[in-house]
Amino acid sequence: MEHYDYLIVGSGLYGSIFAHEARKAGKKVLVIEKRDHIAGNIYTKNQEGINVHKYGAHIFHTSDEEVWKYINQFAKFNRFTNSPKGFYHGKLYSLPFNMNTFYELWGEKDPLKVKKIIADQIAKEHIDSPKNLEEQALKLVGRDVYEKLIKGYTEKQWGKKATELPAFIIKRLPLRFTFDNNYFNDLYQGIPFGGYTGIIEKMLEGIEVRLNTDFFANRDIYQQIADKIMFTGCIDEFFDYVLGKLEYRSLRFEEETLNCENYQGNAVINYNEYEIPYTRIIEHKHFDNSVSPKTIITREYPVTWKEGLEPYYPVNDEKNNSLYQQYLEMAHKQNQVIFGGRLGLYKYFNMDLVVKSALNLCREELIK
Ligand code: UDP
Repeated sequence: MEHYDYLIVGSGLYGSIFAHEARKAGKKVLVIEKRDHIAGNIYTKNQEGINVHKYGAHIFHTSDEEVWKYINQFAKFNRFTNSPKGFYHGKLYSLPFNMNTFYELWGEKDPLKVKKIIADQIAKEHIDSPKNLEEQALKLVGRDVYEKLIKGYTEKQWGKKATELPAFIIKRLPLRFTFDNNYFNDLYQGIPFGGYTGIIEKMLEGIEVRLNTDFFANRDIYQQIADKIMFTGCIDEFFDYVLGKLEYRSLRFEEETLNCENYQGNAVINYNEYEIPYTRIIEHKHFDNSVSPKTIITREYPVTWKEGLEPYYPVNDEKNNSLYQQYLEMAHKQNQVIFGGRLGLYKYFNMDLVVKSALNLCREELIK
């Protein structure tokens, strides 16, 4: 049996960066992947001339020069500015919350007057230190925006009442007093030409990759095959759930190919009311202006995670974070396995932070 310096479990962005850097550092590496394709959740597939984001929309954005330079080694990016719309009770609203949204809501175009409307709404709530997401949102934007554009979407996405959710989730949403529909504040944003799978293919060039290979089906063998393991699956599963199960949110994607050229005129439309069961519809061709007589859309339904479903989002509330800390202590007590990625680190982070954290690990682990 061949022996490796590193076994990398999972060929997503984190694992593939680590594999790439380890190989560059002269290590012998093996990547195993339980799915029948590489690239984890950033996997894209070309269908009808359109790069379809098979596990939900991925828009790369960062202000970090190192991260941007790093990812650009593997692909050329377009400049895609994410400007989603939110649909509520028959009307479309601009996102993120900015002067366009406020104009659509109140017919007011003067930023000072808009600030006053919001400040008055906030004052009515009498919230000093927000204890949950609802209070945080009310303190940030007031009742109108909260009830129309935040409450239903958030409660659907997380499967919990906004009063039971941690406040930090909403901090991802910027609030602006300019007519600027750019969802992200980051300096760089874009979609790789040809899709994301090509990035991972390039990272894994020259590396042995075994698809359809589940670590847990043969863990005894895999724990002997390499000096060290970089594990990017769920940390609680790795430890056989001995301390209990961490909570995740899952998603169901319903994809449809339509015989029309343009279905919704935008890459992302959110559905902000609770009664509509999906949170958004993605129209893939608008991410990179793909030319095709057809279009492909995906409806994204949030679902409660249970074994057998894909875990997409960690639920970073106090209970789960403290359970994760206990798993982390177990992880620190052994030297063979390093945990990484959204699931291994149990962190709700975007692709740029995945790159950053993988590069930090590479520095610690490979440059000694
Ligand atoms: N959010 C919201 N209304 C929206 C979009 C987002 O209230 O129309 C809130 C919601 O609480 C959500 C969080 O912002 O959980 C992050 O949403 P985003 O779509 O940015 O996250 P993603 O799922 O794309 O990582």
